[in-house]
Amino acid sequence: MNAKPIDLRELSKEEVTALVAELGDKPYRAAQVWEWLWKTHAPSIEGMSNISKDLRAKLAERAVLRPLVIAEQQKSNDGTIKCAFRTWDGHIVEGVMIPTEKRITACVSSQIGCSLDCDFCATGKLKRVRNLSAGEIVDQVVQIARLAEEHLKRPLTNIVYMGMGEPLLNYANTMRSAERINAEDGLGMSYRRITVSTAGIAKQIRQLGDDGAKFNLALSLHAATDEKRSSLMPINDSNNIEDLVSALRYYTRLTRKDVTFEYILFRDFNDSLEDARDLLRICSKVDAKVNLIEYNATDDGRFQRTPMEQALKFQNYLESKGITARIRRSRGRDIDAACGQLANKNEPAVAGGERVMKPVQKD
Ligand code: SAH
Repeated sequence: MNAKPIDLRELSKEEVTALVAELGDKPYRAAQVWEWLWKTHAPSIEGMSNISKDLRAKLAERAVLRPLVIAEQQKSNDGTIKCAFRTWDGHIVEGVMIPTEKRITACVSSQIGCSLDCDFCATGKLKRVRNLSAGEIVDQVVQIARLAEEHLKRPLTNIVYMGMGEPLLNYANTMRSAERINAEDGLGMSYRRITVSTAGIAKQIRQLGDDGAKFNLALSLHAATDEKRSSLMPINDSNNIEDLVSALRYYTRLTRKDVTFEYILFRDFNDSLEDARDLLRICSKVDAKVNLIEYNATDDGRFQRTPMEQALKFQNYLESKGITARIRRSRGRDIDAACGQLANKNEPAVAGGERVMKPVQKD
């Protein structure tokens, strides 16, 4: 009996080469298989059309390929497209294509569900099911890039790990997927175009420094005192602001990169000029710029969005003190595709239910 099948995209290049050799084929075949896995994205082992039938059959006996498939797409009236992807074991994760005039950004998930339970985030209400593999993270990018070409005839320009899940709690696969997105024999996209967003896991932020991570790092700060931050994000109890500042200083020193603080403005909670002063104090300790994010209502109604006038005051205060601060408008809200809204709303409660397919109209 065969043991658990090998997932081909869990293998390193050396391991693929060894496997192909073991099956009696030449090294150049292994290079071709590797390309199918990470560059041309074969839908199946059978679909690796320039590989001999014999090798494909032998590979299929020993190994599997487990690509994500698009189960459903929804298009926002601002052009944002949300994709529900089905995993090989029947779960749904969401990824989003966000077009602007200059950019097309893919927002990808790193886990099925999330373990962090941030108060303001719909994904936090789901249970964490499992980590996504590096292959499954890359698949979202590949499929969203195809949508960009298909609908807008433009290439993807940016990738943000800001979908479901906490990328730094899926550290190895986050690193590997970013490496595969960057690699010449992968998607060939510059690390400067990749941003990983974290709720703040101090130990892993230091690890990024030790590993010389080359992508951009964003930290979901959202409040500038521990009291407020802990009331929003339980993770702050074990990774408080001081721990994070210290880890970020370590990271910026080793990588020579600055970081982005994400700060959702909640009306009458963290949007006063006193809050801005507290935030400034943190910014004075870390090389950072600030993205002020519009709050997207989730279902429970604890928070409201800060009025734009107040958001501008908050921004102006930071800018007057020499901190780069930008207000990020929300996209895709009408289809629950915006930050914090990814929660498989259309997912049938019982596994095996039929999903309604909503094909997206071409532009
Ligand atoms: N776990 C990671 C990545 C996922 S969240 C992280 O926490 O950074 C991506 C961004 O969306 C984070 O900054 C998150 O705080 C923000 N977000 C979550 N819920 C939101 C909401 N309801 N409105 C606006 N932004 C939200």
